[in-house]
Amino acid sequence: MQTLPQTILDFDREHLWHPYTSMRDPLPVYEVARAQGVRLCLADGRELIDGMASWWSAIHGYSHPFIISAIQKQASSMAHVMFGGITHRPAVELAKRLIDLAPHGLDRVFLADSGSVSVEVGMKMAYQYWLSKGVKGRTRMLTVRGGYHGDTFRTMSVCDPEGGMHQFFKGIVFEHLFAPKPEPCFGDSWEEKHIEAFAKLIRLHTDELAAVILEPVVQGAGGMRFYSPEFLSRVRELCDETGILLIADEIATGFGRSGQMFACDWAGISPDIMCVGKALTGGTMTLAATLANRRVSDGISNGTHGILNHGPTFMGNPLACAAANASLELLVNSPWEERVDQIEGQLRAELSPCAELPTVQDVRVLGAIGVIECRRPADAAAMQQFFVDRGVWVRPFGRLVYIMPPYIISPEDLSEVTAAMADAVAQKELFT
Ligand SMILES: *Cc1c(COP(=O)(O)O)cnc(C)c1O
Repeated sequence: MQTLPQTILDFDREHLWHPYTSMRDPLPVYEVARAQGVRLCLADGRELIDGMASWWSAIHGYSHPFIISAIQKQASSMAHVMFGGITHRPAVELAKRLIDLAPHGLDRVFLADSGSVSVEVGMKMAYQYWLSKGVKGRTRMLTVRGGYHGDTFRTMSVCDPEGGMHQFFKGIVFEHLFAPKPEPCFGDSWEEKHIEAFAKLIRLHTDELAAVILEPVVQGAGGMRFYSPEFLSRVRELCDETGILLIADEIATGFGRSGQMFACDWAGISPDIMCVGKALTGGTMTLAATLANRRVSDGISNGTHGILNHGPTFMGNPLACAAANASLELLVNSPWEERVDQIEGQLRAELSPCAELPTVQDVRVLGAIGVIECRRPADAAAMQQFFVDRGVWVRPFGRLVYIMPPYIISPEDLSEVTAAMADAVAQKELFT
């Protein structure tokens, strides 16, 4: 049946929730018919250069033939089979690849079905670690402000209290401990005072804490901030000193985005538990993983209870694992470091001049991430339309106009995107 684009948009508007939108007053959406390389092809025939990599995930661009053929091959032999009592090559191969790439010691792998679930699993591992050891009362997490860890209730409770609307969800989200936003910014010089508030909290509340959870070096959806790897090193030291577990949420940063394979590599540290997702399948399928070291897995397994209480229906989905294996193979065989470096240099050169604009508060770049922080929130619908009219896909978020393009974007295409960003933030009428 041939459906007219307008019918699709009308039906969508009437019946479909989109992320963080109203059903009464939805923001406009654009119908994408195909996606190829760094281009989103709209149903009306227009093409947009993609600056978002579909939220950090499509690192090789869209419809990469190597990933597509791996998915097709896997689909024709086994799309899915339960993971209880059964194993398969795609899952085992993926675990091996992840262990080889991950920071030292993380060699126990739980395959989850989305980023939020992998964080839930990481938190559950931490709780179970202490319970299995017979230690009671360690019910809280210590985190930092400005974080984002997902949309489910436990993960929401460790998101930034303001951005995560804790006031709105009071009595529903659990009250964890928040240290101030990590300082200093990436590249600024370290001083002891930057860790004082965090150190005080972790020492004061040691007996209540199961784990520290944070995004290493790059804070994503909670504000797009980059902070000093020294802060992360000191957090690792404080966790060692107090015996508290460290959970690193690498869901946004994993697989090269910040210029290192994992953002933890900037500090040369290894967390006890690490969550990955987003770019894991190169943006093709939903899949995430929670990696743990032997301290955690032994702690859980040798205890009174003995098992990790988690096992989603689609755990270890072979199709998603095959996509992830193909994506990781592409990544390690590509010059990703040079590509990310080159994107970083170009973003710095082309976005930095925006810092002079009266509408702009700050411009920051790290790896293949470029952020313009504005003084006022963007008028989301108007600015989105501006970008579409310019032939690029950039999705403003509050006061942030930011991109994290596919690593394969050409310098010419990237210039189109940055020029559109610079022109957008210069226009007062595109802000609320
Ligand atoms: C996106 C994200 C999540 C949540 O992942 P979903 O797949 O959206 O559930 C968690 N943590 C970080 C750092 C993220 O960027």
